[in-house]
Amino acid sequence: RTPDVECRMLVLGAGPGGYTAAFRAADLGLDTVLVERYAALGGVCLNVGCIPSKALLHAAAVIDEAAHAKDYGIDFGAPKIALDALRSYKEKVVGQLTKGLAGMAKQRKVRVVEGEGRFLSPNELEVQGAGGTTLIRFEHCIIAAGSQPVKLPAFPWDDPRVMDSTDALELAEVPKKLLVVGGGIIGLEMATVYRALGSEVTVVEFMDQLMPGADPDLIKPLADRLKKQGVAVYLRTKAAKVDAQKKGLMVSFENAEEGKPAAIEAQLFDRVLVAVGRAPNGAKIDADKAGVQVSDRGFIPVDRQMRTNVPHIFAIGDLVGQPMLAHKATHEGKLAAEVAAGEKKEWVARVIPSVAYTDPEIAWVGVTETEAKAKGLKVGVGKFPWAASGRAIGIGRTEGFTKLVFDEATHRVIGGGIVGVHAGDLIAEVGLAIEMGCEVADIGHTIHPHPTLSESIAMAAEVFDGTITDLY
Ligand code: FAD
Repeated sequence: RTPDVECRMLVLGAGPGGYTAAFRAADLGLDTVLVERYAALGGVCLNVGCIPSKALLHAAAVIDEAAHAKDYGIDFGAPKIALDALRSYKEKVVGQLTKGLAGMAKQRKVRVVEGEGRFLSPNELEVQGAGGTTLIRFEHCIIAAGSQPVKLPAFPWDDPRVMDSTDALELAEVPKKLLVVGGGIIGLEMATVYRALGSEVTVVEFMDQLMPGADPDLIKPLADRLKKQGVAVYLRTKAAKVDAQKKGLMVSFENAEEGKPAAIEAQLFDRVLVAVGRAPNGAKIDADKAGVQVSDRGFIPVDRQMRTNVPHIFAIGDLVGQPMLAHKATHEGKLAAEVAAGEKKEWVARVIPSVAYTDPEIAWVGVTETEAKAKGLKVGVGKFPWAASGRAIGIGRTEGFTKLVFDEATHRVIGGGIVGVHAGDLIAEVGLAIEMGCEVADIGHTIHPHPTLSESIAMAAEVFDGTITDLY
């Protein structure tokens, strides 16, 4: 069969990885086709992930700040929430970005083909769209088909009161009682939104810590605040069964340790959000017909140039492995496009920051203290409590702290963690420090503007260095 479209570069999936790869490939002179099953570009991140969640978290922060203002003499009264308007705001934010992407694709002459793509051979992809089937023959391909929420099989998914993150972002209603299954980043961000909007929120987490992966000391200020706000958190707990009844979802729980009773009794919830992780889409695109290896779990293995086992086919983003983060996907997308265009490059990023946009935010990058201990690394830690920061006191948010992890022998920064408002914005400096091989003195001697929260990074360096010995 003769192909309907021929191109040098085909990108499958228009999430942050895919659109970045397509734009870069086009900029480098490759005629590029971008295949996406949905009408809007932007993938999970723009449509049902990073962006809508942050728009709603902004609203949550405003509600909380308005309540807090009472402490300094300004009373806004109780918030009146117009859910339709809030939903429109979120949709406007998303629409602005996705329309922007469509414009950027057009400007670069990237041809967008809408429909579900599947490989037919190592150089052919068939796209099933509303308008029929399109056969595309390509020279190079970048697979960027992303991931989707894990659906626990024991739950009644045909009941709209059982939600994944996409459903929760729809904001159909503010349930009176919400159960969040999974105390990771996504679960806790959504818990933050719904709690601020007025839901009574319960979180259950199977592991013995919220957000496993972050140092426990970073979690504590968030756990304390959630408790103060009335969010019930149960660790080492599993939501075992959900029984859909007319008056609500009856959920029963089990202790993570077999034989032990659960700390929370079976009870009715108005809605249940399941946020227990994401599964890669690697196994859904007939990659085998292109000869591309896919793991049992659906991940596609790649080398340091993002090449799969088939040299002219690359893979990037959520479907090549953890961490499943947009900024990892975009970095990989750029790299894959550049390598396909003939540049001699490989993955060089040393570290990838993680951020939970909860309240307070939690951000970390590089080696964590827990990891350093487990690996027997000789490290030193500089920790600066925000209770000693003029800016944190001024905004009434002193529960945060900043810590830097140093190699004890070289005094180079190898990791860092921040908990507090705007931690996600602040962590970039620590990432730069690690990438540049900064020593403690480099950070301590860099003049940070006063009074800012960024000073806490320099202060943490000075604490480690012994320049600051008495914080109070
Ligand atoms: P995706 O964004 O998953 O895009 C893949 C695209 O491929 C999709 O558009 C899909 O429709 C398309 N596709 C798949 N199969 C086919 C096919 N066969 N044919 C055609 N098209 C196909 N990350 C952050 O860094 N920061 C955050 O704050 C953040 N918040 C998040 C909040 C939530 C609620 C969620 C769910 C995720 C969040 N993430 C965040 C993660 C982030 O969204 C992902 O890491 C990122 O979207 C991955 O990009 P990607 O390009 O690999 O894939």
